[in-house]
Amino acid sequence: QAQRERCEAHLEAATRDGRMIEIAANIGSSNEARLANDSGADGVGLMRSEFLFLGRDSAPSEDEQRREYQATVDAMQGKPVIIRTLDIGADKQLPYLTLPKAPNPALGVRGVRLWQSEPSLLDTQLRALLGVKPLRHLRIMVPMISDGSELEWVRERLEAMAAEMCLTELPLLGAMVEVPSAALCAGAMAHVADFLSIGTNDLTQYGLAMDREDPLLTGQADVLHPGVLRLIQASVLGAAGRCPVGVCGAAAGDPLVAPLLIAMGVNELSVEPSRIAAIKALVRRLDMAIIAREIDSLLTLPDAQAVRRYLVPLVESAL
Ligand code: PEP
Ligand code: MG
Repeated sequence: QAQRERCEAHLEAATRDGRMIEIAANIGSSNEARLANDSGADGVGLMRSEFLFLGRDSAPSEDEQRREYQATVDAMQGKPVIIRTLDIGADKQLPYLTLPKAPNPALGVRGVRLWQSEPSLLDTQLRALLGVKPLRHLRIMVPMISDGSELEWVRERLEAMAAEMCLTELPLLGAMVEVPSAALCAGAMAHVADFLSIGTNDLTQYGLAMDREDPLLTGQADVLHPGVLRLIQASVLGAAGRCPVGVCGAAAGDPLVAPLLIAMGVNELSVEPSRIAAIKALVRRLDMAIIAREIDSLLTLPDAQAVRRYLVPLVESAL
């Protein structure tokens, strides 16, 4: 059966009731892109570009970055590649970046907010990304966006830079939905974004006010908390089909949570390359309507444990 799953991993996956779900990969480098492509990924749903910036004495040059992004796009052989702009904060320090000490790093200058204090770092990355060919295979995603205006600001920068470089074609531009305000304002965001991708790791952290790094809270920081699920639902309903919505947090690769995300209307799941085959097999066995009609009941449950108890037999019955 494992052998069959691996072969079928290279085919697209639709649910039993006929909805295509893109199963993409989360990667950190062009080497991992090769692994993702070999694993049957339909694309890259999240390349965490910060790995290129960590563990060194100076920032990678525009040229070095462009080569790495190009190698990633090349490795995926024409499938869409979403590269996320730098998501460094005061917690993940770069030795060549001196940010003032943040009282609460998780709530400080990180993700898109870094653009204001370090414009040349992020502009260099944008220029490197715009040097990739062909640009239609590339999608740029911005982390820690809190509303549509922030993404609009990035779009203006992107367009100005493309004009400077005499480019006629622009890559798609999307936002991560990982800050609760972004989930609640998804409607306005969808007017500015070409796509949205829900980062359930941070959305859980910020939605529940529980530090994802705190070992004392790991059991409680649960994506199945009805409050977090309501944020996910708000993102999908807010986008209202105006732009595709994916999930790139760890929940996307969880066999209990993935069916619920699909039933809520998510179009794409981005998972570790080693999970591609299993998640595609899961999608093919899923009758999502069975779960979809229970979502309103699930959301009225009091806590994550109750949702879990309700969801386990429900997902079993839908497979
Ligand atoms: C997330 O927050 O869910 C996410 C995918 O981004 P990261 O884990 O890199 O913060
Ligand atoms: Mg995140």
